[in-house]
Amino acid sequence: MSGPSTNLERSLGDIFRRLIAGTGPISLTHYMAEANARYYAKADPLGAAGDFVTAPEISQMFGELIGLWLADMWIRAGRAEPVHYVELGPGRGTLARDALRAMKRYGLEPRVHFVETSTALKAPQLEAVPGAVFHADLASVPMRGPVLLVANEFLDALPLRQLIRTAEGWREVVVVSEGERFVGVPGMRPMEAALPEARRGEPEGTLIETCPAAAAVLYEVAGRLVNQGGAALFIDYGHAEERAGSTFQAVRAHRKADPFEAPGEADLTAHVDFAMAAQIARSRGARWLGTVTQGDWLRALGIESRAEALSEFAPRHREALHSAMHRLVDADQMGELFKVMGLAAPTWPEGAGFEQS
Ligand code: SAH
Repeated sequence: MSGPSTNLERSLGDIFRRLIAGTGPISLTHYMAEANARYYAKADPLGAAGDFVTAPEISQMFGELIGLWLADMWIRAGRAEPVHYVELGPGRGTLARDALRAMKRYGLEPRVHFVETSTALKAPQLEAVPGAVFHADLASVPMRGPVLLVANEFLDALPLRQLIRTAEGWREVVVVSEGERFVGVPGMRPMEAALPEARRGEPEGTLIETCPAAAAVLYEVAGRLVNQGGAALFIDYGHAEERAGSTFQAVRAHRKADPFEAPGEADLTAHVDFAMAAQIARSRGARWLGTVTQGDWLRALGIESRAEALSEFAPRHREALHSAMHRLVDADQMGELFKVMGLAAPTWPEGAGFEQS
């Protein structure tokens, strides 16, 4: 039955152009959701040969320190079993592999659950962690036993909604096509109701981003922590304070690219609103441990002495180990833009690295 070109052979740009010509503009949310689904389904985007490099791919120390943090929480909370390691968007499975190895040294050997939609990434994920069980979303993760959850650079890939204050009031940003290009413009429908109430009065020209899909994930994770016990780490680039302005961007071959060009060919991302994330988690009854910069968090967990210890063990790699550490913690690298947010069940202890200074 397949015609001359199936949907996957046709470019997503062509599909969008036809859709927009036939039925009108699509929301930016729809545009980003389809583009990223296509992008992640296609191939492994991570690493030197791909489009971007993430912290676990830079150094094993990243996953190991996360594993230690989770083990410390679990031990101080009373070592409940069964216990589940859940990772959202595990990429190549590198973070999970490194974290699980560190946990094992402390007697923590959780069941492993990967929430992943990309079929292309499943093979490397299984190779890294052979026993992992796959889930399309959190709903099928077991309901009994504490959850130790990690999401690194996951929330930023979820579809964004942009709302803009025009002379006529608040409108959603929608996507139209202009020849070969796409552009974001204010839609027709009034969107006052979609806006956080406190922000409705902001002046004309203000652009506010929300991420309904990220809000849904936070709500669900917080609910799991409250009902089952456990702790969670969300790591991503973003801001801890409320802000305005567009952060929508594409990353292709390690460079920023135009998100309105070649949808499905580049990774589309937006900054994570950690203020909103914390608010949602708390509203569901979870304990917010804090949101700190990645640099501060990794230093508090002892990345410097870890790099030293590894260097003594493998002196030939000393330079590489230290330069990897600097990429993770330095303010002009990933150390400041990336944030770590910790959550826990209300009955669980405070988390290392989040103490208020
Ligand atoms: N955490 C990994 C990968 C980050 S890239 C790392 O740090 O290296 C984003 C990951 O999220 C990929 O694994 C991608 O396939 C997955 N992903 C993106 N959107 C998703 C969705 N809606 N549901 C589940 N997984 C998703």
